[in-house]
Amino acid sequence: MSDSITFQTCDACGHIQYFARAFCAACGANDPLTRTASGVGVVYATSLVHRAATPETRAEVPYMIVLVDAAEGFRMMAHGDKSLTIGDRVVATARDFAGHRVPYFQRTSS
Ligand SMILES: [Zn+2]
Repeated sequence: MSDSITFQTCDACGHIQYFARAFCAACGANDPLTRTASGVGVVYATSLVHRAATPETRAEVPYMIVLVDAAEGFRMMAHGDKSLTIGDRVVATARDFAGHRVPYFQRTSS
């Protein structure tokens, strides 16, 4: 369950947001609905990280950070395969990264 990606939708204005908040970032309405995403999306941008941001991530470099446009309409930053390129269709799994469970995208043909 903790491996699934969640997002929020606002009943009042229809805004979709990835970062969970107690209110809608667009209109301020309280209690946006939390939903579980399919994990399917398209790569919007990629960045191969060669320099560790923290001591904990030093053992992981180089690693790929991707911006993914989720099928549900929000954009999220996550880890992914080093071979990913812009426009690739991807699906999310989860991986351990520097001691944390993080979303991890891999290319899909479907
Ligand atoms: Zn709203």
